[in-house]
Amino acid sequence: MTTTADHALLRRAVALAAEARENGNPPYGSLLAAPDGTVLAEDRNTTLTDRDITAHPELKLARWAAAELDAATVAATTMYTSCEPCTMCAAVIQQAGLRRVVFALSGEQLLTIRPGNGRPPVPQEGPALLEEVRAVVEPYYDVRRP
Ligand SMILES: [Zn+2]
Repeated sequence: MTTTADHALLRRAVALAAEARENGNPPYGSLLAAPDGTVLAEDRNTTLTDRDITAHPELKLARWAAAELDAATVAATTMYTSCEPCTMCAAVIQQAGLRRVVFALSGEQLLTIRPGNGRPPVPQEGPALLEEVRAVVEPYYDVRRP
């Protein structure tokens, strides 16, 4: 359930989305806020100007949080974002240790504004070569076989 305080921070994320568009990029913006509402970092989509398909603001901020903040601070940080994170960003947000995301526009609502990109899921094949890959991975985790 979002609060009035959440809405103020979401409005800043929407303003960042407008800035992204003004800078020649898709209109998405995000920020990270501490529990007291202090903005820790903010970013905009730069996929076109950076020629980087991963330059979504949510992904950049999640990477920043994991690199610059301690784990307890990351866990207490909320991401505010103009649009619901895509599957790529959602995975990185989870990997970073963030535990709360507040978005304005849902991914489903976005599809009513912007049709899908038409890219089908990529088929993945495997597992294969289990013993060979296990010899590389297992020592890293020091896994003991029963
Ligand atoms: Zn994304």
